Amino acid sequence: MPPTQSHRIIDIHTHPAFFQEEVDHADVRRLIRYGRKFGIERMVILGDVLRYGRLPSASQIRSINDQTAALVEAYPDYFLGFCYVNPKLGDRLVRKEIARCVRLGFCGIKLEISCNAADRAMAPVMEEAARYGLPVLQHTADQTNIRERAFHSDPADTATLGGRYPEVQIIMAHLTSVGLRGVREIEEYRNVVVDTSAFQPVAGLVAYAVARLGAERVVYGSDLVIRDLGSSVGRVLAADISRSERRAVLFDNARRILRNGGADV
Ligand SMILES: [Zn+2]
Repeated sequence: MPPTQSHRIIDIHTHPAFFQEEVDHADVRRLIRYGRKFGIERMVILGDVLRYGRLPSASQIRSINDQTAALVEAYPDYFLGFCYVNPKLGDRLVRKEIARCVRLGFCGIKLEISCNAADRAMAPVMEEAARYGLPVLQHTADQTNIRERAFHSDPADTATLGGRYPEVQIIMAHLTSVGLRGVREIEEYRNVVVDTSAFQPVAGLVAYAVARLGAERVVYGSDLVIRDLGSSVGRVLAADISRSERRAVLFDNARRILRNGGADV
């Protein structure tokens, strides 16, 4: 099925700047045009999260979040921002940066591979998320082969986080990377949803996640600019799910989550 404007889409997982200290606005405008062609009305910017490696300093974190804020300010009807944090910076700096991002109008929190989702260093992040009502998007990948679990979250770890903080909306990233087991790991934690971003599509996986979790717990994401839109949108358009389930995955769920985080979408 070719993409058409009849599909309303919100992309909850993008990185318009990727290893880029200076944004090229011609590239950004091209990205927005490319997105709109596929029916993508809004994109959530998670930040240029790996620009300074796994453990960015407080000033590096601020510069990444400032770049996100500048992009949102330049294209306010297209981009929404999530606040990137490194939990290993400790209680005071984490809370301070989240408060700063809330003042900048960010509507969620993004976690990458500074620490495992089950690490106790996550406490201030999750307490602030609960206080401000912000969703938390946790990078997650199956650690059976990667073997970096000291700092890299397996779906079982993101599920543990969900169990510890049932009042916080958690988005587990990367359906294809967490796979069937990832879906099963989060199944009992109603506050955890999975995003469809990253990797090449696997036949049947989106439909499996919808069947096990319910359509309201599967959220469209691409991981642009690392991934392409054709395969990201195509895996949802081609999934064997109903029209209303597809609409929930592509649009309604993200809108609900972002509105709960205070965004005007
Ligand atoms: Zn990503």
